[in-house]
This record gives sequence, structure tokens and C-alpha cells, in this order.
Amino acid sequence: MNKRPNEPLSRHCWNQLGGPAQLLIDVENDEELRSVLTEASTSQTTVRILGLGSNVLVAQEGVSGVVIRLTGEFATYSFDGETLTAGAGVDLRKVVSESVRQGRDGFWQLAGFPATIGGAIAMNAGGRWGEIGDILTTCEGYQLNGTPWQQTAADCGFSYRHSEVPGVITKATFTLKAGEPKLLRSKLKEVMSEKAAAQPLGAKTPSSGCSFRNPTIQGVRHSAGQLIDQAGGKGLSVGGAMVSPTHANFIVTTPTATASDVAALMGQVQKIVAQHHSVLLEPEVIQWPEPRKS
Ligand SMILES: Cc1cc2nc3c(=O)[nH]c(=O)nc-3n(C[C@H](O)[C@H](O)[C@H](O)COP(=O)(O)OP(=O)(O)OC[C@H]3O[C@@H](n4cnc5c(N)ncnc54)[C@H](O)[C@@H]3O)c2cc1C
Repeated sequence: MNKRPNEPLSRHCWNQLGGPAQLLIDVENDEELRSVLTEASTSQTTVRILGLGSNVLVAQEGVSGVVIRLTGEFATYSFDGETLTAGAGVDLRKVVSESVRQGRDGFWQLAGFPATIGGAIAMNAGGRWGEIGDILTTCEGYQLNGTPWQQTAADCGFSYRHSEVPGVITKATFTLKAGEPKLLRSKLKEVMSEKAAAQPLGAKTPSSGCSFRNPTIQGVRHSAGQLIDQAGGKGLSVGGAMVSPTHANFIVTTPTATASDVAALMGQVQKIVAQHHSVLLEPEVIQWPEPRKS
């Protein structure tokens, strides 16, 4: 177990932004995780779980309490026939390439974005080609008071970028059909090149992916990016944060950007989209601490 008091979360979030966690703890196995959760529950300390931080915007002032990352045993996975068992700390991108190599169908659909298995389940991550909820069989973990749980995919309440999974996810199993590796490789390539052409994915353009959920208007889901673009949002900026000229739902940052710049820019984007389309965009990015509802 590795404990780091006052650790800047900008070092651990994909967008390279955000203030410190009061205490960042890397846990390596169930026993360590259970003991951290039990202690935090007894002392009524706030607990947050961090994956690759690719969908989190941490405020400049940071967060109080404990931020837990799953490492060690939680970052291992194995294939057994059509079943993949993966710890929640496993990097999804490794599983995507290994599943294609092994001729297993189901993960190439999740290519092109950074995530841990746990973060992807929590967000029901995916896109046009599929979502992680489509291939999940079971998952398990702990409630924040340390009580273990186990559930099937049907119990996870998956919907668009949403799941209802309690507390910390630690492990998951997936059922993957057999596929021809050559065909799977070409599908993977297709997804990657489509994403590379349409999204700012390079290391020089840190972001949190899509800032806003695609809204449902009169029963039809619309692209938030298109709505922002039509409202004239591309290129809008606050400080070091800018609405990407490549994809209007991405806010990209320069090294001088702060989380406050991103939050202020998100507010401006919501305003112009509300004026132009009479639609209130809902953030997809998880803000820490959670903004107070007015
Ligand atoms: C360039 C870029 C492109 C992206 N493209 C896409 C895309 O195409 N589709 C898509 O869906 N998303 C996309 N995203 C967003 C992001 O990749 C996903 O939401 C991803 O699933 C987040 O995983 P993470 O491990 O980084 O989680 P984090 O960002 O660290 O956390 C996200 C949420 O999950 C919770 N969480 C994390 N791990 C656990 C766990 N073990 N147990 C319980 N809760 C947990 C966190 O507490 C937090 O609430 C993109 C992001 C970037 C930066």
C-alpha cells in the first residue's frame, strides 16, 4: 500500500489538471482495500475512486478525504476460453489489443479512449460501436463501508454513460465470442483511424474526452458536439482552455490551463447552447468535488 498525503491529482488525471487529494492511496489487494474502506467509514472520511482520471475534473483546491487507486492484483487479467477475468485497475487499452491478438470479439469496440476496467464499467463507457455493458457478465467489489458485493450485468443498471454499481468495483468477467484475429485487427484499425481523424487525441492536447452528454431532444439523442458547433462554440476559450476546433465536445488545454478555466468554459458553452438551441447540456465529466446544485 502506498499512501501519499497532499498529492497533486494533476499528476494522475488525463487532463493534467486539479489540486491535491488530502490522501491518495494505492491499494494492491482486497485486504488493503477493505482495511482502507473500513477505516474511512469508521472515521466518516469521504472516499473517491480514481482510475486513469480520464473523465474527472478535479477543482484547483483539490479534494478532502481519501482518493483510492487500484493497483497490484487489481491490475491483472486473464483469458480462459470465451471468458476474460480482469481486475478493475487494468488498463482497458491493454485488454483491447490483447483480445484482438487472441481472437476474441467484443473489446475492439471500446478502442481509442483511456480507461481502467473499473472506470469504464462505472461510466458504461463506449460509443458508436458498443458499450462495456454489452459484454460484461459479472462484476464484484465493495460498498464504501467495506461490505463485499457481487452482481450480474443485468443488475448493473447500464444505460447511456451510466451504471448503478455500488461503491468500488474490483473485478469483472466478460464473455467474448471467438473472432478471426485478422478481421478483428482491421475493425480495430478502422475505429482508431476514425477517432484519430475526428477527435483531438494526441499527447499535446490533454482533455477529459467529451465534456457533455449527448442530450435527448423530443425522444432523439443528439450529438452535443454538433449542437456546440452550430451554436458557434468551436474555438471559444477561457485562459488556457479551448473548445477543440477538431471536435466541439472536447475541451483541450495548454500547460497554463487551470481546472477553473475548464469549468468556466463549460459554463460558457452551456450558455451559448441554451441560447441557440434551448437545450441545457449536462456535463459528462465528473467534477470533484461535486458542484452544489442550485
Ligand atoms: C481523449 C479521450 C477520449 C475519450 N473518449 C471516450 C469515448 O469514446 N467513450 C467514452 O465512454 N468515454 C470516453 N472518454 C472518457 C473516459 O475515457 C471514460 O469515461 C473512461 O471510462 C474513464 O475511465 P477511468 O478509469 O479514467 O475513470 P476515471 O476518469 O478515473 O473515473 C471516472 C468515474 O468512474 C469512477 N470509477 C473509476 N474507477 C472505479 C472503480 N474501480 N469502481 C467504482 N468507480 C470507479 C470514478 O470515481 C469516477 O466517478 C474519453 C476520454 C478522453 C481523455
